[in-house]
Amino acid sequence: MDSSAHRTRLPIRARLATTVGGAAATVSRLTGKGDGSVIGGVISLRLEPDLLSLLAANRQVVLVTGTNGKTTTTRLITAALTPLGQGIASNIYGANMEAGLTSALSRAPGAPLAVLETDEKYIPAMVKATNPKVVVLLNLSRDQMDRAAEIWLLARRWREALGAAPDCRVVANADDPLVTWAASSARQVTWVAAGQRWREDSWCCPNCGSHLMRVGDDWACRECGGRRPPVSWELDAEAVVDPSGRETPLGLALPGRANRSNAVVALAVAEAFGVHMSYALRELRAVTSVAGRYTQVNRRGCEIRLLLAKNPAGWLEALDVVAPPPVPVLLSVNAQGPDGRDTSWLWDVDYRRLRGRHVLVGGERKLDLAVRLEADEVPFRLVNDIDEAVEAARAVCPALDVLANYTAFQQYRAVLGRTQ
Ligand SMILES: [Zn+2]
Repeated sequence: MDSSAHRTRLPIRARLATTVGGAAATVSRLTGKGDGSVIGGVISLRLEPDLLSLLAANRQVVLVTGTNGKTTTTRLITAALTPLGQGIASNIYGANMEAGLTSALSRAPGAPLAVLETDEKYIPAMVKATNPKVVVLLNLSRDQMDRAAEIWLLARRWREALGAAPDCRVVANADDPLVTWAASSARQVTWVAAGQRWREDSWCCPNCGSHLMRVGDDWACRECGGRRPPVSWELDAEAVVDPSGRETPLGLALPGRANRSNAVVALAVAEAFGVHMSYALRELRAVTSVAGRYTQVNRRGCEIRLLLAKNPAGWLEALDVVAPPPVPVLLSVNAQGPDGRDTSWLWDVDYRRLRGRHVLVGGERKLDLAVRLEADEVPFRLVNDIDEAVEAARAVCPALDVLANYTAFQQYRAVLGRTQ
């Protein structure tokens, strides 16, 4: 279907809404106020509140959600579906609420497929609006301390929404008990062993509240009989185990276990679309960076790699990914609105594995992090900006891994130049 064919099926007000929203997005981009996807979507939705449903009609939609790994998994699924040879709409810069999804679809009017990163809270409304073919549930853990109480409520809302969407296939992480509970209301579930690095939020059975027994990746509830379901897809160290039980090395360019798990999830989604694993895997291997993450940037002769980690689970995963010694590590923490104002979550992460390494500490809340590292007996040096960190790193090794939370990451990206 070509772009004009899809567009002419939209009612006239919806067409007007996408045109005006697109113009607003362009103005926003030209005036340097961002990539424009949020403002464009907000304006479009004001003109036509049902625009998202109208734009999603006649498309095969994948919604991707979870506390960690949404952006990367969305990118990997998009790659894994390219062998279908059809246009794919996606919110690649992570604008993941209603306006961002609307904007992603209106920018690609002719694309019959859509892979959309979706904020955890918006899943029920977005399932209703887009009638997705597949919903991907990655994991559910506290994002910042001030949101800790929400995750059980979120799981309940996911469960209700998926129970009311009988045509939707759910691809869910069986290693996360809360995700499993939320997914098990769905009619069709593909279970993936995608791992759970962070377990502090899932010692209790989501079904009955009893203490869960956990041995390795397995988990079970003695009271109500809830247990980890048998999986179709699994990550085994560096290889994927497919539903036939065959092992294939992943060979990704992206680093770390979390990304290997995300890739296995992407392969399970590709299977639901009939893409053969060998074709999907070839595309996954070609992904080298996701929205500036993992990008290598050279600054003053130092190879800098940027890693984003927004919450305790994300920090644990990122600490798995950092380059081995002697590469120095810069940890950087802010506490602006998007980061959560409370930095007490720093105490939930175990930093002891950084002992004996060259650790640099930056960001607006570097003193909070410094106190935390003192407690874990990790020696460090405070730095005021990225260039001071580069100077300190170069004295050791011409490379630096930067691990930063959201606004700290964006600040470094702005200094180092926007790279994709
Ligand atoms: Zn139970």
